Amino acid sequence: MNEIYSDEIRERIEGFKNKKFGPLFLEIYPSSRCNLNCIYCELHPEGTLNQNFPEDSFEKLFVEASEMGLKSVSLSGIGEPMLNPSLILRIASIARKKGIKTSMVTNGTLFNESFTKKLMGYGWDEIILSVDSPKKATLNTLRGRPYTYDKIVNSLKLINKYRKSFDSTSLNFHSVITNKNIGDLADLFLFAQKNQVSKITFDSLVTYSEKMKTLALSKNDEERLNLETSKMKNLVDQTGVLTNLFSFVQENPIRRTATLSDKPAQIPPCLVPWFRMVIFPGGDARPCCNFYEPVDSFIGKSFSEVWFGKKMMELRERLLGATKFPCCNVCPSGLLIQSKTCSDAFSGDLTPFHKALENK
Ligand code: SF4
Ligand code: SF4
Repeated sequence: MNEIYSDEIRERIEGFKNKKFGPLFLEIYPSSRCNLNCIYCELHPEGTLNQNFPEDSFEKLFVEASEMGLKSVSLSGIGEPMLNPSLILRIASIARKKGIKTSMVTNGTLFNESFTKKLMGYGWDEIILSVDSPKKATLNTLRGRPYTYDKIVNSLKLINKYRKSFDSTSLNFHSVITNKNIGDLADLFLFAQKNQVSKITFDSLVTYSEKMKTLALSKNDEERLNLETSKMKNLVDQTGVLTNLFSFVQENPIRRTATLSDKPAQIPPCLVPWFRMVIFPGGDARPCCNFYEPVDSFIGKSFSEVWFGKKMMELRERLLGATKFPCCNVCPSGLLIQSKTCSDAFSGDLTPFHKALENK
């Protein structure tokens, strides 16, 4: 779901002051709880936080955003979205009626027959399972629960069974590269092929905690990763599984194991908050999944009040300038690419953005 709609972006920014349009992409985090305890979980390593925003409030905001021209919704989060299955089905039903693309990132351990059948019946577009290794012991160790591998294998069977009957849903993997799985990548492609997975997207580890540092790549690991991947090209082509692996290893804009810094980032203007928004489980509004603190809150407010509110306008202004936030030092590459594509839609001329902020 990384499409960027250049024409729509142009239309929106130029008409921003008319307050007609909302974001193109909305991320909703339906739950802050999780049933796993991954070593690299950055926000609540014990997976026990309980901070759910009422389902009705999520739904109301989603309906309003969809009436403001939303194109795509993604469910993911600081917790496991599938711990809130009724909200997922409510969103699926509305999205289907409004023609909004739907995607969900999940740990893949909570699918059952009834839920899977209903979700596919709504024509859900994309499911991304977090799978870092095809090896049972490695996967279970990384995810902190001994049942993870078996449950994921069961979910893959269910998803494949129902997506065939409804002719819907692309199935993809998301994998974090750590020192525990660099030897498993070739087998991961074979596992993906066997389970009819279309694409594997690899991501970096950001080491927020001492526990996470135990997974960081050393210099030797990085060399090994380069060597392993250089031998995998033919195998990957033969599986037919799409991937960012080769560009990721060669060009990833942040180091493959990044550490948080408290220095403001010096990167080009970030245009993400002009077309994206994230709603966190407690109703917090943030511009992206990587942003470290709430910018505003949806509690007691409409979508429009937050989207065009003073706090979001101030954030947009700061992100157009030279000094960003410390978290922007580890901005995920997908967001940077989207921001660049947005800037390209205006040939790098940011005057319309500055104009939209006048008299905010
Ligand atoms: S599945 Fe995600 S939310 Fe759950 S413990 Fe793992 S990283 Fe954290
Ligand atoms: S982390 Fe990236 S997308 Fe988020 S505000 Fe910073 S630069 Fe923008």
